[in-house]
Amino acid sequence: MAANSTDEEEIKWSVFDEKSEIGHPKFELGQLFASAKVFREAVKKQAIVERRHVVQKRNYGSRVKFVCSNGCKWNIYANKMQRSDTYQVRVYDPKHTCTQTFDQKQINSKCIANYYENDIRMNSTWPLQAFLKKVVNDWGCHVSIYAIARAKRKVLRTINGKHVEQYSRVWDYANALLKALPDSTILVMTEDAGGTEEVGQKRFKILYTCFGAVKKEFRKGCRPLIWLDGCHLKGPYGGQLLAAIGTYANDGMYPLAWAVVEAENSESWNWFLKQVVEDLNIENESSWTFISNRQKGLINALENIVPNAEHRFCVMHLYRNMWKEHKGIGVRMILWKAARATTEYTFKKHMDELQKLSKTCYDWLSEKPRTQWSRSAFRLTPKSDQFVNNQCEIC
Ligand SMILES: [Zn+2]
Repeated sequence: MAANSTDEEEIKWSVFDEKSEIGHPKFELGQLFASAKVFREAVKKQAIVERRHVVQKRNYGSRVKFVCSNGCKWNIYANKMQRSDTYQVRVYDPKHTCTQTFDQKQINSKCIANYYENDIRMNSTWPLQAFLKKVVNDWGCHVSIYAIARAKRKVLRTINGKHVEQYSRVWDYANALLKALPDSTILVMTEDAGGTEEVGQKRFKILYTCFGAVKKEFRKGCRPLIWLDGCHLKGPYGGQLLAAIGTYANDGMYPLAWAVVEAENSESWNWFLKQVVEDLNIENESSWTFISNRQKGLINALENIVPNAEHRFCVMHLYRNMWKEHKGIGVRMILWKAARATTEYTFKKHMDELQKLSKTCYDWLSEKPRTQWSRSAFRLTPKSDQFVNNQCEIC
């Protein structure tokens, strides 16, 4: 709705809501549109959904008129309201007397790129045939594979362009954060681009974030328990997101620090963990507990930086690893029972049970230190008996 249109107009005429109505637009006389562009998009979308051919009549200035290109009576006309950007429908004949078409010229690569931008963003390697199948299913009309290929290229070009622009503004982002939250630790690291890039150009390497308020409040109300995990970043440049998550007194999630790094390895975990320990002022490490999925680089980093802290291993990951070699409902139930056991006696009882059921699985599990996965051997200091690393995965 335009800024200078009055409330009375809104009450008198229905206003087209782009977000909720664009799926299948309906028109009526007097209906208001925020701009000519919104009106044009709505008319084109309706034509696609109802399988009609419509064309815009040219040279109308602040007036927009569409007619049916098959020559039937259907037409719609809107013009710009005085002292406003709003367009209002003045003439509308809603009945097509022509037959529906399955060959839609309106569904071109631009239109497909618009509607499927998010899908391509989430899956940049989407095969063209699968993409074509989805478009044909969704719209119920013929579309050429070339239009699909052009649409995909268009979206990828836009996305890649946006990524380059956003990476080049990472310093602005860091400065804006530091201005708003002065006690934060925001680190941006670059390296020499080398290769084909110009001499002296830098390439993004690491972004690390730990907010000032988080550092301050963490010591006041959180358990001495930190979850660590990493995940792949989607997008043309890939990379990894490393995260450290705390738990507050009510067992809720408390994000502490995160970093974007090139790869998840010993070097990046070492660097990240060192930074987290420093920012959160972690002293007397033996009273702290870290829970992880025992990623290779992370085990080394924990042993290097906080060797005396308790290291717990996410039992869900232990279970998944076990499942690869030792399948069966029986062994699975015993694993969880042994993990939940709170005394050495019950732990041993479940392990004996496992030995009787499957000697190979028992040998495999016995190699994993009990202190890392069973409540019966956890330290009491974190006042928490959690053993599933789901906090990080949610983040
Ligand atoms: Zn028609």
